[in-house]
Amino acid sequence: MNTAIAPFGPHFGFGLYVHWPYCARVCPYCDFNVYAAKDRASGPLIDAIIADIHAHRPRLPQHGALDTVYFGGGTPALLQPSEIAAILEAASRAYGIAPGAEITLEANPNDVLRSDLAGLRAAGVTRLSIGVQSLRDSALGFLGRDHDALAGEKAVRLALAAFPSVSFDLIYARPGQTAAAWEAELLDALALGAPHLSLYELTFEPATAFGMAQRRGEMAPMEDDAQAELYELTQRLTAQAGLPAYEVSNHAAAPEHRSRHNLIYWRSGDWIGVGPGAHGRLTVGGGRYASEAERRPEAYIAAVQMLQNSWADAARLERKDVAQEILSMGLRASEGIDLRRVDLVSGRPVPRDKIGAFAEEGWVTLEGNVLSLTPAGRLLADAITLQLSP
Ligand code: SF4
Repeated sequence: MNTAIAPFGPHFGFGLYVHWPYCARVCPYCDFNVYAAKDRASGPLIDAIIADIHAHRPRLPQHGALDTVYFGGGTPALLQPSEIAAILEAASRAYGIAPGAEITLEANPNDVLRSDLAGLRAAGVTRLSIGVQSLRDSALGFLGRDHDALAGEKAVRLALAAFPSVSFDLIYARPGQTAAAWEAELLDALALGAPHLSLYELTFEPATAFGMAQRRGEMAPMEDDAQAELYELTQRLTAQAGLPAYEVSNHAAAPEHRSRHNLIYWRSGDWIGVGPGAHGRLTVGGGRYASEAERRPEAYIAAVQMLQNSWADAARLERKDVAQEILSMGLRASEGIDLRRVDLVSGRPVPRDKIGAFAEEGWVTLEGNVLSLTPAGRLLADAITLQLSP
């Protein structure tokens, strides 16, 4: 790496994240910033998002065209193609959207079955990320989902026919799930032929219905050893099927199907975050700024109207925090992280003696200056990152 280049910033990618916080109903394990859609009008929030996109521009005069746009949520597939197009139009007018940009939309299976997929494609969406979550009806019931396994499979097939790239999510390590049951389900998932999968272990977050059930003693997460066994099984089956992990939970058939938007996060590129609760990271005048929009939709709309953008009071991050983030995010991806970037920001080298010890344990590899976690090391990612943090 040329260390004359800033160790973070838009040359590692420039994206726009749009958070749409409404869902048809709220799932009991979900820890995102979500609200039941009920019969809320989408207009005022879309207007605020568009105003927010434009209002960021004056502080980013050096930033070029967007490499990615990601509609996440919540359920952004509740938006009409014309509403998606209006947001993309605003992004294009404010920054430009690079030719061949990745434009991702998150959707649930029933949205895919109901949506005007040709309309979404015409609006500019290039990639659908579908919340299938399980291919077993009993698990979908347990997870409180409003679709069955057949709807998930149908949605994936329809999306594959309509979009250049498709991903879907599954949640495993569910209470009581055996290795044999997960193996059969994952093989069914791989047989659907999507070029990207996101495979997450079920977590019990305190503020969710599952978290509360755990506190009442009604539910318990899978034991760590059993989870680790399923994680290793997942790595083996996906690699055998030609979808190796390129990040802790993400698998792709080829580099062009990796999530370019998420790679911006893992590479410490820049992204604007708009919509309720959205986070952004932006490089201005050599400093790294973190923005966090108001979480409640009404508060977000009011803040944008009053301040004109959601990062009016964005905080400049301390060098130590930036260095830690570059390291922790970079280690998530299998491509690893050039340690000179971390050294440069923190002003003191990542301890190479500790790296040597971790390498002997088989947890990391160091090639030149690029540090990566091995599959065994990924299970210890947080502990390793903590030990190496500046
Ligand atoms: S649909 Fe997705 S974002 Fe919405 S509540 Fe369920 S898991 Fe959360």
